[in-house]
Amino acid sequence: MHFVDLKAQHDSLQPLLGQEIQRVIDTSSFIRGADVDAFETNFAALTGSAHCVSVANGTDALYVALRALGAGPGDEVITTAHSWISTSETITQSGARVVFTDTEDAYFCLDPDQIESKITEKTRGIIAVHLYGQPAAMDRVKAIADKHNLWIIEDSAQAHLAALDGTMIGRFGDVATYSFYPGKNLGAMGDAGCLTTDRADIAEFATLFARHGGKNNHQMEGICSRMDGLQAALLNVKMPQLPAWNATRREAAARYDSLLSGLGDLTLPAVRPGATHVYHLYVIRTAQRDALRSFLTERHIPTVVNYPRALPFYSAYDYLGHRPEDFPIAHAHASQILSLPLHPFIAEAEQHEVTNTIRAFFAANI
Ligand SMILES: *Cc1c(COP(=O)(O)O)cnc(C)c1O
Repeated sequence: MHFVDLKAQHDSLQPLLGQEIQRVIDTSSFIRGADVDAFETNFAALTGSAHCVSVANGTDALYVALRALGAGPGDEVITTAHSWISTSETITQSGARVVFTDTEDAYFCLDPDQIESKITEKTRGIIAVHLYGQPAAMDRVKAIADKHNLWIIEDSAQAHLAALDGTMIGRFGDVATYSFYPGKNLGAMGDAGCLTTDRADIAEFATLFARHGGKNNHQMEGICSRMDGLQAALLNVKMPQLPAWNATRREAAARYDSLLSGLGDLTLPAVRPGATHVYHLYVIRTAQRDALRSFLTERHIPTVVNYPRALPFYSAYDYLGHRPEDFPIAHAHASQILSLPLHPFIAEAEQHEVTNTIRAFFAANI
């Protein structure tokens, strides 16, 4: 059993993927070029955005977005205590200071009730993360941002095509960032990322900044962050499958929901009212997480902890001097969460094997 089965995904799209790799070799369109232009057009259309700017990975997309919005020394940017470190490390890299907020107990996303108490005269913006494929509480985050004149970046690396009350993620903030790391809901065969926006000024800055500040006239010093032609060609083949793959993830999640209901202290992932969840990860919670994880590992069922600590408690943030009581929810979740195998090609029999093993664990441990 695989936690994520990329081979099954790629086998389902052969021989097309192989043909595309050969075509990119034949045309030597390795950096930029027609495939990258097509990717940007296709992804902007798919997400309903006016602009898509491709970059080398999802982390660069965040950094470029922060720089496009003017984040820099003296500024503060508010974000969630529960994410992958790209979300916060890029704030620091921009020169701004990271200000963490605690998360919602039910949904793992940044808690809108905590944001206003973190706002100072230095606050410039908010990075909301649609964690595990679930939209953050964007209606409330947006109301707070509008009231205090703050910008919003939506870190959408785990939530391609998720929606809230019928509005697709990425449509709430000033800019949305995406990762196409191989295991993401839409994944390349290497690193790739992009940002989407309706703001022409952000798209223009990002296009220049990610490509050395311009080609013939360097209007500024930038960085070198480009999507490969090969990755763009492969993403263009996979992209039309994304809505169906997300639907299959939802079906598999619903199957887990029914097979795992009412077991011990197990908490199943809740869906925010009005949300279209795209289940990048299916994350359960139990006080016996470590024992359950060992039990599953011994029986060859792969699981992952996303993530073993809340961000403020990694050594990288020792300088902020945070204590568990500063982020009680995110801190508690870190010892309870467990991500189960879930991907569009998971077999029903595999899901039964996972859930039967979890049932056996709770039968033996209650
Ligand atoms: C994967 C991920 C990123 C970073 O994407 P890369 O393409 O690996 O750089 C950023 N934020 C979140 C929440 C992610 O899950």
